[in-house]
Amino acid sequence: MSVLLVLEQSDGKIKRASWEALAAALRLGPAESITAAVIGAQTAALAAEAAAKPVGKVVRVEHPLLAQYTADGFCAALQQLIQNESPTQVVFPHTYQVRDYAPALACRMGQVLIGDVVGIDDGPLFTRQLMQGRLNGSYRHSGNGPCFVSVQAGAFRTDGIDASATAGPAPITTFTPTIDAAQIRCKPGEPFRGSEQTVDLGSAQRIVSVGRGIKEAQNLPMAQELATALGAELAASRPICDNGWLPMERQVGSSGQTVAPRLYLAVGISGAIQHLVGMKGSQCIVAINKDPDAPIFEVADYGIVGDLFEVVPALTEAVKAAKQ
Ligand SMILES: Cc1cc2nc3c(=O)[nH]c(=O)nc-3n(C[C@H](O)[C@H](O)[C@H](O)COP(=O)(O)OP(=O)(O)OC[C@H]3O[C@@H](n4cnc5c(N)ncnc54)[C@H](O)[C@@H]3O)c2cc1C
Repeated sequence: MSVLLVLEQSDGKIKRASWEALAAALRLGPAESITAAVIGAQTAALAAEAAAKPVGKVVRVEHPLLAQYTADGFCAALQQLIQNESPTQVVFPHTYQVRDYAPALACRMGQVLIGDVVGIDDGPLFTRQLMQGRLNGSYRHSGNGPCFVSVQAGAFRTDGIDASATAGPAPITTFTPTIDAAQIRCKPGEPFRGSEQTVDLGSAQRIVSVGRGIKEAQNLPMAQELATALGAELAASRPICDNGWLPMERQVGSSGQTVAPRLYLAVGISGAIQHLVGMKGSQCIVAINKDPDAPIFEVADYGIVGDLFEVVPALTEAVKAAKQ
């Protein structure tokens, strides 16, 4: 088993989703079997960042025509790298950029991309969610050639990565692909810039998330007090953000952020499928809901059936008392 891990960068730093892809790659084989690729025109700093992680080696895929991302340039460069390295698996983070070029790259090489993977079992057997998370499908690569896999944000925890780093930095080599300017059919525009995020829910260890059960915006400070006592971030279901009670960056779910904290406390959230897909990877889920049949209890490790206006203040007091 040999794994080629394709890292993605933003503003000269490797994206967190790439380290989650490394966590997934480590399920496929030991660090020594992993080759991490950084792509661009000047990749020295990126390569040094990658070399400090548990990987066998780092390859700088460098060419002036890779200075700006284009699907044609990335496909051409990676196809040559894959032919050179002959990995059994090629692993990507499931980012917008990867969605743009990785299916075409896999297709060029006579393969398919097993996209948006949320689990890896022995075999390897890859799990993908179907029908907005209602079903899980298992996929196994068959035939010759590398298996292309992209991994969902938040599905693989990066906790152990630094701890399992090898003694010294991994060796770094450079690979210069042959790319002709005529091969690049697309003209790169201004890179998309998302709205400035002041909160990174994806890496929060504890989250208190509020839903429509909170009734009114003026009741939010009660949930914030519990979050503060727990040292948690405040998040919400979609209606709360749609109402403008909390900013969109705090929305969890299929059209919000995917989170995987150690503790996810769902307060007055029913557990609609679009919400569950964003948080069911949490390590411990606690739900407070007055309806004993609320679907959130199906994924909860601990459930409190009760009125949140009684439970939340009592819990806050209990947490504060426990800390004294
Ligand atoms: C395309 C699409 C994308 C979507 N994306 C997202 C998404 O990213 N994230 C998301 O969250 N939703 C998303 N939704 C919306 C989703 O379908 C649900 O409508 C939404 O998650 C419901 O939010 P809620 O649980 O807060 O509200 P509700 O479903 O109204 O649930 C409120 C809950 O509070 C409980 N409750 C009420 N009062 C109390 C009380 N006093 N004490 C205790 N419990 C109480 C009720 O029993 C109920 O279970 C999306 C929908 C679509 C169609």
